[in-house]
Amino acid sequence: MRDALIPGVNIGLVGHVDHGKTTLVSALTGTWTDRHSEEIKRGISIRLGYADATFYRCEECEGAEAYTAHPECPNCGGKAVPFRTVSFVDAPGHETLMATMLSGSALMDGAMLVIAANEVCPQPQTKEHLMALELIGIKKIVIVQNKIDVVTQAEALEHYKQIKRFIKGTIAENAPIIPVSAQKGINIGALIQTLDAVIPEPERNPDVDPLLLIARSFDINKPGCNWRDVKGGVIGGSLVRGVLHEGDDIEIRPGRQVQVENRTKWEPIETKVTSINAGQTRVTEAGPGGLLGVGTKLDPALTKSDALAGQVAGLMGKLPPVWDRLKFDVTLMDRVVGADSEQIIEPLKHKEPLMLSVGTAVTVGVITNTKKNQVEVQLKRAVCAEVGARIAISRQVGGRWRLIGMGILVE
Ligand code: GDP
Ligand code: MG
Repeated sequence: MRDALIPGVNIGLVGHVDHGKTTLVSALTGTWTDRHSEEIKRGISIRLGYADATFYRCEECEGAEAYTAHPECPNCGGKAVPFRTVSFVDAPGHETLMATMLSGSALMDGAMLVIAANEVCPQPQTKEHLMALELIGIKKIVIVQNKIDVVTQAEALEHYKQIKRFIKGTIAENAPIIPVSAQKGINIGALIQTLDAVIPEPERNPDVDPLLLIARSFDINKPGCNWRDVKGGVIGGSLVRGVLHEGDDIEIRPGRQVQVENRTKWEPIETKVTSINAGQTRVTEAGPGGLLGVGTKLDPALTKSDALAGQVAGLMGKLPPVWDRLKFDVTLMDRVVGADSEQIIEPLKHKEPLMLSVGTAVTVGVITNTKKNQVEVQLKRAVCAEVGARIAISRQVGGRWRLIGMGILVE
């Protein structure tokens, strides 16, 4: 059995800005236990937010009331037992931050789509985020109808019907809809029970080469600390497969950009894993699911301010290829969603700039070749990805990057 305190899945929070994603993370992580990251405390969700939550169950109580984010049963006041820990990936809902949402969705095993009950459904990013889940293929979805404390029961019911109409025919058609108040802590037990049922821990194969998608990277040293105490750079992300061990020699790709005779090349960064944190737990090895903090011997200057976000890490010589030109099969949607006016999506054009999200990487490029349903794009920044990888495609519409379809990387 897995350790109940080690996160086993990543659950994304998506939805329109101000609908309560970050507040819901606090409700689910039990703020008062002081176990969540600095970032959540400061309320930043411009970058991807991370937080782990341990779910507890009271052995004396039954049904939704037995589930809680705290070690104390809210129903009988008795002791609740931890049974599972999950990591949350809190994606920003603002429309200009779609790229961050897309890079976060590469890590999600499932997602909560948060919809505020006091606004008409759907709002633009409610639509855009659901579509992103659809394109990326995230099927395990729980819909959270939030802010029920500020609407009447009749309004909540009407809003529920709007949600039902909105999800009809989408990947979320049969997703459960759980009414909650994140702020007042209403119905959080039912939400935990549902998350546990809808997003179980997937079967993992420990025998394949590990592949870590890097979502964040940090310099954890205090300014002006003594050089003797300087700690190596830390990378944060999730394994999509395999097992990583303390002491592993790893490389990070694409790595560092270097100039060789007027040409730009990418050189892998080599280092060693010095520590692994899974949630709050220091571990000697870790598998997929949940966000990891991986200590390395790297110069922290290389990892500060998310400098390595979007790169991948794995064992030396075992990583997928690095591409500075991507060829992919394209499926475009019919209409742009998430904007005020929903325009028809025209076919891709030669020389058109695109924003591509591949794994946690977000890169911009220009189309150099178009054939029937296939395009080739020259990238500004190279990416490390496998043939067959999914690529989310965005184009400039009215001065913003809008998600317009998806691609599959081909050789
Ligand atoms: P995000 O942009 O989706 O992360 O939204 P936030 O979590 O930052 O919440 C936006 C605003 O809505 C904040 O002022 C919250 O206090 C408020 N809010 C969040 N959840 C609830 C709720 O359940 N009820 C009420 N009344 N307000 C809420
Ligand atoms: Mg937020």
